[in-house]
Amino acid sequence: MRKIAVLLFLTIFGLAGCAPEDQPPRIVYDYETKAPPTSLPTTKPTVSLPSTGPVPSSWMPSHTERAWSAIIIHHSATDEGNATIIDKWHRENNGWNGIGYDFVIGNGTNSGDGEIEPTYRWREQLTGAHAGGTPGNWANEEGIGICLIGDFNRSVPSKRQMESLTKLVRFLQQRYRIPKSRIYGHREVPGGHDTDCPGKRFSMNRFRANLSN
Ligand SMILES: [Zn+2]
Repeated sequence: MRKIAVLLFLTIFGLAGCAPEDQPPRIVYDYETKAPPTSLPTTKPTVSLPSTGPVPSSWMPSHTERAWSAIIIHHSATDEGNATIIDKWHRENNGWNGIGYDFVIGNGTNSGDGEIEPTYRWREQLTGAHAGGTPGNWANEEGIGICLIGDFNRSVPSKRQMESLTKLVRFLQQRYRIPKSRIYGHREVPGGHDTDCPGKRFSMNRFRANLSN
């Protein structure tokens, strides 16, 4: 009976012209067997974020993009530095293939104040090496690592560094549909190693307050 009622409903409304032609085809459940429809697209929860406008082309990856689900903020714990210096440091001291982060934001010492340097890990969309110890290494697999030059146990980021960080994070949030709840300071990463990174004087709550969603 219910199936007939549904068909009758659709017929009446179809004839009355209440179903515009540009709407996707209606999916009709089989009420007799309660079988789920087979043609429904899989939906994942998404967040709606405002567009950030144009960004530098260097921010765009040159390889197939990973399914990033988090953003992780670090400090270099040094007064000076840039992507090249950290790259050398991670190769020589850690034996890695190169810098572990996806982006570095300078403080005016070895790169511009607020200058954003995307690294080879970002361009090639490789697994990161910046937030170890998590189950399944999820934070390096799915988390975008951003490092600000500075030791924020002793000082605070510059105004330009924070402006650049905010712009970059907004862009990444929008592109990968990353909600604010998935933007972590390194020390906050669920299941991660014990650390005070990105420094005791870097307030993640204050930073997140400037972000959408
Ligand atoms: Zn860190």
